[in-house]
Amino acid sequence: MSAGFLLVLSGPSGSGKGTVSERLMEKNDKIIYSTSVTTRTPRPGEVNGENYFFATIDEFEEMVKKGELLEYAFVHTNYYGTPKKFVFDEIEKGEIVFLEIDVQGALQIKEKYKEAVFIFLLPPTMDELKDRLIKRDTETQEEINTRFKNAFKELDFVGEYDYFVVNETVDQAVADIENIIAAEKLRVKRHKDIKKEVMAEKKGEEIDNSI
Ligand code: 5GP
Repeated sequence: MSAGFLLVLSGPSGSGKGTVSERLMEKNDKIIYSTSVTTRTPRPGEVNGENYFFATIDEFEEMVKKGELLEYAFVHTNYYGTPKKFVFDEIEKGEIVFLEIDVQGALQIKEKYKEAVFIFLLPPTMDELKDRLIKRDTETQEEINTRFKNAFKELDFVGEYDYFVVNETVDQAVADIENIIAAEKLRVKRHKDIKKEVMAEKKGEEIDNSI
């Protein structure tokens, strides 16, 4: 059994992070999704405590003041942050905790918690990204412009990540992330005592090491 770890997924708005994350969660009930706090207004169909914890700016600032957030950032036009206690409680239990957050937040986590695994999700092309932002029809034209401009800035930080995944199709992007998770679980440093794990089925019996 590997120890728990933190998996961080970032990528520009329109790269398909939301859809990829959702499919990854549906397929892997062992991966724990960390619900962020935001000051953004809920979109139609979004549920408090499920998609996000929706908070006022005052409530958000209170959480920052009390040190309750592992990271937080002002993204596009709102605050977003990761509740700290939940993340570390789950990792402590040996779980893989999944965060879908922006680049600024990922860089803050990299400073504080080097054991995390950082994945950057890319669109196949920037034209495709623009198309996806326009087609999903959830933002105003002004917001789309801001998000598209931010995408170019965010791409400067791919080099800070451990892996990149190109979202040609959701299935392939999810499969790539699952492969990364499988490899990370096998990292020697994530296991306390591999010899003990291998011997576990002997349950204290004398081991015959002759051939
Ligand atoms: P949306 O408003 O489309 O749900 O999310 C906007 C952006 O905020 C996305 O890039 C998303 O990854 C990012 N985001 C969501 N939750 C968090 C968080 O807890 N921390 C940070 N830093 N970014 C977040």
